Amino acid sequence: MCIFCKIVAGAIPAKKIYENHHSIAFLDIQPVNFGHALIVPKEHHDVFLNTPNEVLHDIMDAVKKIAPAIIAATGADGFNLGMNNGEAAGQAVFHTHFHIIPRFAGDGFRHWPHKEYGPGEADKLAEKIKMKLAV
Ligand code: AMP
Ligand code: ZN
Repeated sequence: MCIFCKIVAGAIPAKKIYENHHSIAFLDIQPVNFGHALIVPKEHHDVFLNTPNEVLHDIMDAVKKIAPAIIAATGADGFNLGMNNGEAAGQAVFHTHFHIIPRFAGDGFRHWPHKEYGPGEADKLAEKIKMKLAV
């Protein structure tokens, strides 16, 4: 059983804050900022792309309820909603989960670095992606 399945089953403790039909939310044990929460499906799915849409809909419903409550409880100025998909993207727990991270003006966290496309590169890549979408 994976660590989040154990939390869902109540086999290990967690600071649960919300649940609906398909999802539960609890505080991240190592928060980026206090109030950092995770929303996970109750059933085990390893990554976003393998998670049924119906389950993801419940997770998004939960985000819309929980994010304002975290903002109100922490006095945050905004929040990041994110997920890491795959080891290369930083996913450590292979049970689908979204992070809600409350953010404070001047909290010091930097956004992602940026790259610049060379001439014509963005056009070429957009076309390639669109071709893959059409397959
Ligand atoms: P990710 O890198 O997106 O897979 O994130 C996994 C997250 O799960 C990390 O932010 C961890 O701090 C968090 N985490 C791991 N174990 C627990 C736990 N037992 N209770 C709450 N959060 C956890
Ligand atoms: Zn699991």
